[in-house]
Amino acid sequence: MALTGLQIQKLLPKTNCKECGVNTCLAFAMKLAARKAAIADCPYASEEAIRVLAKAYEPPVRGVRLGPDGALRLGEETVLYRHEKTFVNQTLLAVNVDDDAPAAEIDATLAAVKEYRIERVGETIAIDMVAVTHSGGSVEAFVETAGKAWRATGKALVLRSADPGALRRAAEAVKGSRSVLASATPETADELVGAARDNGHVLALTAPDLDRLASAAGSIRDGGFTDLVLQFETHSPAERFQANTIVRRAAIKTSCKPLGFPFLRFIDSSDLVAGTLEAITEITKFGGICVLPGFDAAQIAALITLRLNVFTDPQKPIQVEPRIYPIGEPDADSPVFLTTNFSLTYFIVGGEIENSGLNAWLVVPECEGMSVLTAWAAGKLTGATVAKFCKEAGLEDKVNHRRIIIPGYVAQISGDLEESLPGWSVLVGPQEASDLESFIKARLR
Ligand code: SF4
Repeated sequence: MALTGLQIQKLLPKTNCKECGVNTCLAFAMKLAARKAAIADCPYASEEAIRVLAKAYEPPVRGVRLGPDGALRLGEETVLYRHEKTFVNQTLLAVNVDDDAPAAEIDATLAAVKEYRIERVGETIAIDMVAVTHSGGSVEAFVETAGKAWRATGKALVLRSADPGALRRAAEAVKGSRSVLASATPETADELVGAARDNGHVLALTAPDLDRLASAAGSIRDGGFTDLVLQFETHSPAERFQANTIVRRAAIKTSCKPLGFPFLRFIDSSDLVAGTLEAITEITKFGGICVLPGFDAAQIAALITLRLNVFTDPQKPIQVEPRIYPIGEPDADSPVFLTTNFSLTYFIVGGEIENSGLNAWLVVPECEGMSVLTAWAAGKLTGATVAKFCKEAGLEDKVNHRRIIIPGYVAQISGDLEESLPGWSVLVGPQEASDLESFIKARLR
């Protein structure tokens, strides 16, 4: 349960030394209670205070780290709906290889996973993980394929086998990758907790129903092992949707600790549409790791795009760095356009200019990630702010001419901008980026 400021203050040294940046321990305690500071900011906090606060503020869905450097994060969620706050860690996408597939097929899939990159709103996105399924009879083949996947991609793995002995051997072979062992049952949990713990991996746990899953997860948790993900035994997309919702609701609304772990889902359908729909359910309904049955670039691109939409923090607009961007290969005679640093606006405007075949400079001042009209209404895109940015960014050194094209939606700043940028003339462009190409043809060719 969350602590009040006064309860937290009792745990602090009460010396009011100010090293945490506030005047008193009580003020710091109030900030901690409001989650606007971290206990690490007080260099004199006792171990007891750190332990109590960590427990009090543990998120209802436990955080799990994956990958050799622990950079892949799962869990840490605190809300059921994104509009309540934000979702913290996105669903990880993994691509499966079967250990009994032809070697050339396995190699091709691993190479495709390793090389896959997609650009979305300025971000380069790769596939997160590889799954290796023990689908043949040979333990050796499973262990060998796991090792090969790890060496070929350097990515965390999901190792899937019904044989605990094979899982232990594969876990040892990829020690250091911080992968997932899938899956322990209530009967094999003790043995596989040992294999996960000994080799620094995470354990997936499954059971025939949610009661038995909660009971087994609770026992493992009480035993001190918390690097867990939950795998549900479900038999239809509807059942899966229900299970994800029930379990996440139990974790967040009723603080059910045994169910407060991220989820793992294998999509086994060979039907591309059905499999994609199942993956969409995972991404939109609290999925942790979603294992796709194979590599399909089109499917992965669609899922990554969906994931970006679900996991982008609605309170933080995606922004590009404020600067003067070259579009194509502009020179000193190339025209100069203005827009804001809201990623979507920047990429649409930049894309339209690029599509027109024009080489140009795109001036993108700091507008806190707002779109053109919003930035203007908030006073972030005025003649004075644009002029100041142009001067500081050295626009006059980049071009010989003195003309800037501004978005039609902020035609009203043209006078102010000409006054603030002496010697410059302002040309008002179209309101919509989609009209840029025809504007360029009519006015700049
Ligand atoms: S650094 Fe710690 S001891 Fe010093 S004022 Fe802040 S909370 Fe109190």
